[in-house]
Amino acid sequence: MKEASQAVKNLNGIGLSILEISHRSAEFAAIIKEAESLVREIAAIDDSYAVVFLTGGASSQFFMAPMNLLAENETAAYLDTGAWSTKAIKEAKHFGEVEVVASSKDRNYAYIPKRYKKPKDAVYLHLTSNNTIFGTQYQKFPDVNMPLICDMSSDMFSRPIDVNKFGLIYAGAQKNLGPSGVTLVIVKKELVGRSGRKLPSMLNYQTFIEKNSMFNTPPVFPIYVLMLTLRWIKAKGGLVSIEKANKSKARLLYKEIDENPCFHGTVDKKDRSLMNVCFLPTKDEFAEPFLAMCKESGINGVKGHRSVGGFRASIYNAMPRNSVKALVEVMRAFSNKYG
Ligand code: PMP
Repeated sequence: MKEASQAVKNLNGIGLSILEISHRSAEFAAIIKEAESLVREIAAIDDSYAVVFLTGGASSQFFMAPMNLLAENETAAYLDTGAWSTKAIKEAKHFGEVEVVASSKDRNYAYIPKRYKKPKDAVYLHLTSNNTIFGTQYQKFPDVNMPLICDMSSDMFSRPIDVNKFGLIYAGAQKNLGPSGVTLVIVKKELVGRSGRKLPSMLNYQTFIEKNSMFNTPPVFPIYVLMLTLRWIKAKGGLVSIEKANKSKARLLYKEIDENPCFHGTVDKKDRSLMNVCFLPTKDEFAEPFLAMCKESGINGVKGHRSVGGFRASIYNAMPRNSVKALVEVMRAFSNKYG
């Protein structure tokens, strides 16, 4: 935040703000180059993959991925693990056949489906690695004979990933990577253009690969902050250290949820997310006073999403362990008073 705000006033001492430099300037060329090479370094990504920075949010990838990769007469397989998967499925149906191979909708998405018939004739299998709203996360990715396409918007770079398992990974930046406005896309080059469809330039991955993400004006400030965030991840010791810190935070909070008589978790234990921790009060009348107690202690944003209710603590990479500890302390104080 400090570096980003300094760059808003004066980038690298050049007397211009990051908000006013040209995206064709030498300064920005260096920034976007470093951002790409940090993505590659942090996740050990080789040259068979392209790394591009796009706009339109992860939501645009819901249609861009099938547009580019799925032909009209082909089938794509999808796993339905929540609201974001459902949206991806809806958009893919515009471009080809969609087979939903498994869904956890029957229990309000409180688990990750594991037993299902593996798709055979599909072009790819799409999944959402972390379900932001419902607080579930794949601990192991499906083993199938086709490229995986993964929406990693809410757990990108929160743990080590083996990119070679995937044909395409996309992530809106706004959780672990930087401000909203930029979407990271990592795509296996040999898959690009496989749909054979005629596409507008702005919706064609090839355009951005050829132009190094600079076909049009890219989101300069979000890419700058993403680059700073990647430097931070690297300085922290990379994804192994980041995962260790995330696990430690999540463990602390889930332990409290399991032990505290005033709360209970909503998700099957083995599928719990390290990023979004969902929990409910054991009595409805606890909800309001608990949120009030949180507010009094300076804790904001823990009200649950309306599709789950209760509470949700989003503890992304940047959330310090001490902040999780503060929440746990409020939960204890609450149960001392009401439990
Ligand atoms: N996928 C997931 C898993 C998300 O959490 C979100 C946003 N919260 C989206 C997609 C949509 O992202 P965007 O707002 O960047 O379109």
